[in-house]
Amino acid sequence: MSTFIFLGTGTSNGVPVIGCNCEVCTSPDPRDKRLRCSGYYITDNGTRILIDIGPDFRQQALSHHITHIDAILITHSHYDHIGGLDEVRQINFLMKKAIDVYGTEEAIKDIRNRFGYIFNPTQIGGGIPQITLHQIGGLPFSVGTTKITPLPILHGILPIVGYRIENFAYITDASSVPSETIDLIRGIDTLVINALRYKPHATHFNLEQALAFIQEVKPKRSYLIHMTDAFLHERVSKELPPGVFLAYDGLTLKW
Ligand SMILES: [Zn+2]
Ligand SMILES: [Zn+2]
Repeated sequence: MSTFIFLGTGTSNGVPVIGCNCEVCTSPDPRDKRLRCSGYYITDNGTRILIDIGPDFRQQALSHHITHIDAILITHSHYDHIGGLDEVRQINFLMKKAIDVYGTEEAIKDIRNRFGYIFNPTQIGGGIPQITLHQIGGLPFSVGTTKITPLPILHGILPIVGYRIENFAYITDASSVPSETIDLIRGIDTLVINALRYKPHATHFNLEQALAFIQEVKPKRSYLIHMTDAFLHERVSKELPPGVFLAYDGLTLKW
């Protein structure tokens, strides 16, 4: 059995937004609380893969008892997707090993710059995360025996990637998806795709664009992520076509 846990489903600010008193930010429904986007995939044979490691990782790991990570797949190097890298220290301690981190050339370069202290330690003590960076190209690679296929997409003008694992695809922060990438996931069982809000946005699909993309891919089921406080879970869920769902933090899929 494979499992996927939505650890976070919010846009870069998270929901509630600091200082916002809108109906979603003050909603008592736990499905309206959105930590920064991340997911935890457990394959059929027990390989544990984290997709992105945002600034809420510590809280997410505590909530879902995450103590083992075989690999971290980075979609891109914006803060809301890598800000939790330092928290890997405790996973290193528990596993007694370094963790493999995969990303594009650009993402790996950014991680080296922003987390310079990991690679050029200047102080003794305090502890630094132990990560092994792996630069991916356009071709599939393996984590253990699991094949991972990078899915090139655009985030504004920035080329980034989603990932296909088995019959599951995870795409976040897309604003357009080339037809070659659609060919890699057409008819897939489960698609996770970003839908920011109703209004258009320069670097993220809005709801209408995400639904049009789903129409093209024709997955069996789709889950929307990377959402602002524009979506009240209860209300928007009723507006969606069959087979399309708003994800929420903690939602767990098993198949
Ligand atoms: Zn983001
Ligand atoms: Zn709000």
